[in-house]
Amino acid sequence: MLIPIRCFTCGNLIADKFQEYNEMQESSQSQEEILGSLGVERYCCRRMLLTTVETIQQVIPFYEAIQKRRVDVQSEMK
Ligand SMILES: [Zn+2]
Repeated sequence: MLIPIRCFTCGNLIADKFQEYNEMQESSQSQEEILGSLGVERYCCRRMLLTTVETIQQVIPFYEAIQKRRVDVQSEMK
């Protein structure tokens, strides 16, 4: 899923840090150092970044299949 814009618990803005967080995964820094350098100090906000799994690339093929099926059904009904 897409990352939530704000932390569920405290409301701190976190989505603006997500891209930079993902880019920093390539470095040899630990998660603690990365989150600290991004200014994410509270553990409620840290869990938002640590536990987000992007599944959009796995989900898109299903929507494409649904759209294709919808087009097929529409053409059969004509
Ligand atoms: Zn928070």
